[in-house]
Amino acid sequence: MKFETRAIHVGEKPNLKDGGAGDVTVPIHLSTTFARKDIDIPTAGYEYSRSGNPTRDALEQRLAALENARFGLAFASGLASEATVALSTLQAGDHMIAFDDLYGGSRRLFTRIFDERFNVKVSYVDARQPANVAEAIRPNTRLIWLETPSNPLMKLCDIAAIAEIAHAKDILVAVDNTFASSYFQNPLDAGADIVMHSTTKYMNGHSDSIGGALMMNDEALHEKLKFTQNAAGSILAPFDSYLLLRGTKTLAVRMRQHEANAMAIAKYLEAHSRVKSVLYPGLESHPQHDLAKRQMSGYGGMISFELDGTLEQAKRFTESVRYFALAESLGGVESLIELPAVMTHASVPPEERRKIGLADSLIRISAGIENVDDLLEDVEQALKRVLA
Ligand SMILES: *Cc1c(COP(=O)(O)O)cnc(C)c1O
Repeated sequence: MKFETRAIHVGEKPNLKDGGAGDVTVPIHLSTTFARKDIDIPTAGYEYSRSGNPTRDALEQRLAALENARFGLAFASGLASEATVALSTLQAGDHMIAFDDLYGGSRRLFTRIFDERFNVKVSYVDARQPANVAEAIRPNTRLIWLETPSNPLMKLCDIAAIAEIAHAKDILVAVDNTFASSYFQNPLDAGADIVMHSTTKYMNGHSDSIGGALMMNDEALHEKLKFTQNAAGSILAPFDSYLLLRGTKTLAVRMRQHEANAMAIAKYLEAHSRVKSVLYPGLESHPQHDLAKRQMSGYGGMISFELDGTLEQAKRFTESVRYFALAESLGGVESLIELPAVMTHASVPPEERRKIGLADSLIRISAGIENVDDLLEDVEQALKRVLA
């Protein structure tokens, strides 16, 4: 099955047997517990909904299929899925390496909880150069955490090159694939061990459900992660599992439109005399455009850029657009805009932001799937108003 077909059919089969009603979409199974006919045998394998739920099961099969993976697990949020990776693969005294340009919340989780409270030391490195990752490896390194493209600086990591370095030393590689979505990038195929998504973003795509996902091929690793999912309990609820099943059905068509709109906006901004720089992996001017072409099948819907102006003007720009809601998050059908230094990345210390090149006036856009002419017109009127 091709991607679009898997996205619609895997996990859902109308039940036409045993008095099944033949629903063409999987029902929302809200029951917290499942009755047995026989004390020794759980009916249809279900006992208690934290451990297993038919709606979540359908979703987990779908999630696996979208990453060409054998297994998928669904969580209450992207961060809950990340915490599950750390709780399952690390212990006190271990070391992990993470890309120095991560989603702010990922960094807060690794540093404030695992490093500061559980003695799992974290080294943040510029993973754009695989050699920097190799250099940071210690005898007790157990996990490498990548995010590509990164948030918000659109930096890329070479997944295959880093996986090769890691596997030579028995180190696991996890990739946050939120920005690309499963449609444009499949890190397991490039050699990663675990793929993670904040499904809150593109995978669900409608800004109406917080969720997270992990996909993997190794059976023992799946068992470990599933054990923690049940033991720590950060599962995705049945209603959100249903929403995500529904969202994934249109992932392919949405991503194609997100990308077309983002490409048009990125090109418009790049050609504008009062725009200092545009960060979009699909532009030939992106320093890692070649890697993007090789590693991704498309460039996604996220753009960051800097105006040739003051921080005040950048703030006014984000308030002057009509169709781009001034809001955190990304990946929904509606366009969004934000100032990372003030909003999503405010928890990253200012000196650290400077070190990785995150300017206070950097603007991030999540291009929605509205008509692109409306979006371009909107950007144009806001630029005129702010830079006059
Ligand atoms: C939003 C986001 C997360 C965190 O996911 P939540 O669903 O908000 O917990 C992690 N990584 C990236 C790249 C994100 O954009």
